[in-house]
Amino acid sequence: MAPANKRLVMKFGGTSVANLDRIRRVAKRVGVEVAKGYDVIVVVSAMSGKTNELVGWVGEAGGALHDAREYDAVVSSGENVTAGLLSLVLQSNGIDARSWQGWQVPVMTTSAHSSARIEDIPTANFDTKFAGGMKVAVVAGFQGISPEGRITTLGRGGSDTTAVAFAAAFEAERCDIYTDVDGVYTTDPRVSSKARKLDRIAFEEMLELASLGAKVLQTRSVELAMRYKVKLRVLSSFEEQSDNAGTLVCDEEDIMESNVVAGVAFVRDEAKMTLISVADRPGVSAAIFGPLAEAGVNVDMIVQNIAEDGRTDMTFSLPVDQVERAESAVRDAMAREEINFHDLIADRDVSKVSVVGIGMRSHAGVAARMFAALSAEGINIKVITTSEIKISVLIDRKYMELAVQALHDVFELEKA
Ligand code: ADP
Ligand code: ASP
Ligand code: MG
Repeated sequence: MAPANKRLVMKFGGTSVANLDRIRRVAKRVGVEVAKGYDVIVVVSAMSGKTNELVGWVGEAGGALHDAREYDAVVSSGENVTAGLLSLVLQSNGIDARSWQGWQVPVMTTSAHSSARIEDIPTANFDTKFAGGMKVAVVAGFQGISPEGRITTLGRGGSDTTAVAFAAAFEAERCDIYTDVDGVYTTDPRVSSKARKLDRIAFEEMLELASLGAKVLQTRSVELAMRYKVKLRVLSSFEEQSDNAGTLVCDEEDIMESNVVAGVAFVRDEAKMTLISVADRPGVSAAIFGPLAEAGVNVDMIVQNIAEDGRTDMTFSLPVDQVERAESAVRDAMAREEINFHDLIADRDVSKVSVVGIGMRSHAGVAARMFAALSAEGINIKVITTSEIKISVLIDRKYMELAVQALHDVFELEKA
């Protein structure tokens, strides 16, 4: 048997497949890679705006406590349309292509509906088809099938993860993520005009940036690429291509020189809750955060004040759309007499801004510069957290853009 062709995974996000014209451009780009001799796996998102529309319909039909399995059945459907349409266009260009929905592959996932994880992608089926002359497999991103046989989705932005998982499973030469910007920038170019495109970024930095809000790649996709050593590239589907276009996400060792801070990330819609005057005794944190976790609240930062007379205030941050759920979880815990507090304050108008860089491991003083820059703009810091390679602060939302720009300036990120 002839050796298999080299494999390439190409992923196209929502704006890249927003209409038939764009889909035709995508087909052309895929055709270029096919002509180079690759067997190509293309992963597509839904047309831009489609997933949001579907999520909205689910909310209207099912309310806040809808069946998560039906959410996935509905919300996954946007990708089915683009996968079929792209296959049709490829076929009309004379390329042997067909579409695959997640369950047909099958992309096997956990049962965690709306945030499932990929567990396995069997390769035999595609291998046979490629050996038989198929040139392009167009895969609907973002979706899979649970052990119970129900359709699952991988969380918002999940097509990135589909793409990297296929690249790992098929040992693809590269995983190219085509999007509406031409790479990973020092911060979201929509927020700072001074944002600079990075030629390379280390996996660890990309992982932090993604998990701290830079939605250019889904966090899980970076995790997978790091674990399976997938060569991951982010590039624009709107510009003419060259072989070293975009940003390569790579090992730290492959970056010659880098700034102490690689980038600034933010999460716009955060909230802060404070439980005033809770008992300062062993077990109180468990009694508060246990019920919050059970209610599915994603608590992020936590600060506990210094106790006075055996009582203290406990503050934590969470996504703004989880405030109601969090309130009822802690009030229920109080009704069960597991905790006791005098008051509960929710601030729904905060954002989280973070600076990220592996250089922080060996450079002191980054936090001090960050705080000085914010203070110079009159921005009050409400909560701070740090780790080895990032510092995050919670601030009033109205200052978010200003904070991002101030930090971009103070760490001179516009300069290479
Ligand atoms: P797609 O639909 O192609 O998956 P996304 O909207 O999910 O695209 O991600 C691309 C967007 O990510 C960009 O349009 C940009 O606004 C945003 N973004 C946030 N942070 C960054 C960053 N550091 N570098 C590049 N883009 C970023
Ligand atoms: N269409 C899905 C979303 O909007 C998945 C993706 O685009 O990656 O979240
Ligand atoms: Mg995306």
